[in-house]
Amino acid sequence: MIELRDVHKSFGKVEVLKGITASVARSEVVCIVGPSGSGKSTILRCINGLESYDRGEISVEGARVDSNDRSIVAIRTQVSMVFQRFNLFPHRTALENVIEGPLYVKKEPREQAIARGRTLLAQVGLADRAEVHPPKLSGGQQQRVAIARALAMQPKAILFDEPTSALDPELVGEVLSVMRKLADDGMTMVVVTHEMGFARDVADRVLFIDGGVIVEQGAAKSVLNQPQHPRTQDFLRRVL
Ligand code: ADP
Ligand code: MG
Repeated sequence: MIELRDVHKSFGKVEVLKGITASVARSEVVCIVGPSGSGKSTILRCINGLESYDRGEISVEGARVDSNDRSIVAIRTQVSMVFQRFNLFPHRTALENVIEGPLYVKKEPREQAIARGRTLLAQVGLADRAEVHPPKLSGGQQQRVAIARALAMQPKAILFDEPTSALDPELVGEVLSVMRKLADDGMTMVVVTHEMGFARDVADRVLFIDGGVIVEQGAAKSVLNQPQHPRTQDFLRRVL
């Protein structure tokens, strides 16, 4: 579903992606792990066209992702993103945040968007929080609203960029369990995370990235339990 072939990206003179080649199949969960500054967020941002890339090719279901192209709007409606900081509109209710995309980007009828928005909020365990504004919700609840909002676009895949890193430890579990359920339901997911337990249990594959290159990739259990590369071994020793 998602293909990256020899993707290069520089910011000024600094090359931050140095030839990334990877693919994600339909219904696959791929976790990207690696040290801070290694290029993980940049990869996600290039996949959904928030960032341009310099060389190589990225495609989603065969359609080339080109951030200069008008087709980028189509890519962004097909590939949703969930950020570390939930990026909800504070002055709109949870439900209004969820239906924003369907109403204004997809031009769905209001009644239909509201009905599905309520279903999605129920799906993330927030049926009774639909009319509440984000500042009145916990961080874990806000991130679950953000996931419902991503789902509201009926995406083909969801990219998660450290979705639990900004949360108090006791709120991490409720977000991971929503993500686990999505994975069980067959959602295609790319997840940048430091939650190695989640990666081991839920991911089909893990990519370890360092310095803008994929140092090691493979089945989640083999990369996390028997890392082959010294840099992967060193990283895992530090985060586990
Ligand atoms: P990660 O998500 O793995 O922590 P990033 O993809 O955010 O890493 O960043 C990779 C490198 O690119 C870092 O050195 C970062 O400082 C740099 N970088 C990221 N975004 C920008 C930008 N918009 N302008 C300049 N440098 C950037
Ligand atoms: Mg990042």
